[in-house]
Amino acid sequence: MQTLMILGATGSIGRSTLDVVARHPDRYRVFALGAQRRDDELYEQCLRYAPRYAALADEPAARRLAERIADAGLDTEVLGGPSALAALAAHEEVDTVMAAIVGAAGLAPTIAAARAGKRILLANKESLVMAGEVFLRACREGEATVLPIDSEHNAVFQCLPSNGRGGRGCPGVRRIVLTASGGPFRGATYEQMGDATPEQACAHPKWSMGRKISVDSATMMNKGLELIEAFHLFGVAGSQLDVLVHPQSIVHSLVEYEDGSVLAQMGNPDMRTPIAQALAHPERIDSGVAPLDLVSIGQLEFEAPDAQRFPCLRLAREALAAGGAAPCILNAANEIAVSAFLERTIRFTDIAAVTEAVLNSIGARPAGATIEEVFAIDAEARSAAHDRLGRCPA
Ligand code: NAD
Ligand code: MG
Repeated sequence: MQTLMILGATGSIGRSTLDVVARHPDRYRVFALGAQRRDDELYEQCLRYAPRYAALADEPAARRLAERIADAGLDTEVLGGPSALAALAAHEEVDTVMAAIVGAAGLAPTIAAARAGKRILLANKESLVMAGEVFLRACREGEATVLPIDSEHNAVFQCLPSNGRGGRGCPGVRRIVLTASGGPFRGATYEQMGDATPEQACAHPKWSMGRKISVDSATMMNKGLELIEAFHLFGVAGSQLDVLVHPQSIVHSLVEYEDGSVLAQMGNPDMRTPIAQALAHPERIDSGVAPLDLVSIGQLEFEAPDAQRFPCLRLAREALAAGGAAPCILNAANEIAVSAFLERTIRFTDIAAVTEAVLNSIGARPAGATIEEVFAIDAEARSAAHDRLGRCPA
């Protein structure tokens, strides 16, 4: 029986995780659920999964949840505040932590899980992008295991020798190719993207996801963040990482070996597959995903990404090549720009412009050596991004 804590339980990945877990009550026990402020949804999850603990980062929301839990006579203990999420992620009774908070807010509780030596199912790519070295050091020191949830990285993990345990630097591997659906604006002109609304940007053709990652997919910043994520997870050189646009989202990524062999992992585009793979690894369990029907799909298409129309991909590559604090600055500026776009204060094409301006204005810096230093760089980049927002053309 694995004891599970879910960070980001009310989100898209959190809900898919609970869906898989509910199919296997003999294998998984939901020990703790954590989220930001949606107390109604967390209450429903408490009713259904009866966790020992539930935590909301937002204290007033946590108080509302505690009242309802008490009125319903449930045994769940409710905690409030961001530190409660980190404490539960490190709780001695927890074996496995699903790290599925969106954005930089996921870093502190995910690091807490790493230091406590948990088995970490990592969906929160932003924590690796902003603090790759600090996070991996915490994993080494705490003897934590990381299993990638991002579908591309989960695919690569499955295609590597001994399921990702082929060694840092992946001997024998020539290239790792991350596939990208191309997002909702794959066929749009740059001018059309300038007029895109949040609704259009969030209408992903293949994946149903949270709003932030949906916008990242539309700008292709998501693929850029994933290049940086792959760099840290697999220990290969940036030059060994490539992106291939594959609109059907059936091939989730590929590993090319020195001898010319190319291994790919395929499946329907449904996050329950990588979630089930990581939950059960090295075993296999039912995820609820329909079998892949290649006859009805008929054709798989591939094309090169267009860095002109999707400048975020170039920015992420440049940040990866520059190293140091650049990925952390990129991530912070992008988060601010994406929320401004979702609030309709800037245009879709301003997301890349704001991020590039912040990267240029802060300049080269060494990476934060501690989590505090990482947060200081993150805060500086956020403030520079806020300054830039005011200068965007309406
Ligand atoms: P989402 O917006 O649907 O859910 C986000 C979750 O994070 C919610 O439960 C929310 O309560 C929680 N959260 C947000 N801010 C918080 C804070 N300050 N403190 C505590 N909790 C907070 O997002 P999602 O689509 O589920 O994505 C989650 C993560 O997984 C992201 O890092 C994303 O990049 C990654 N990911 C998602 C998908 C997908 O298909 N959705 C695929 C690959 C990777
Ligand atoms: Mg992905």
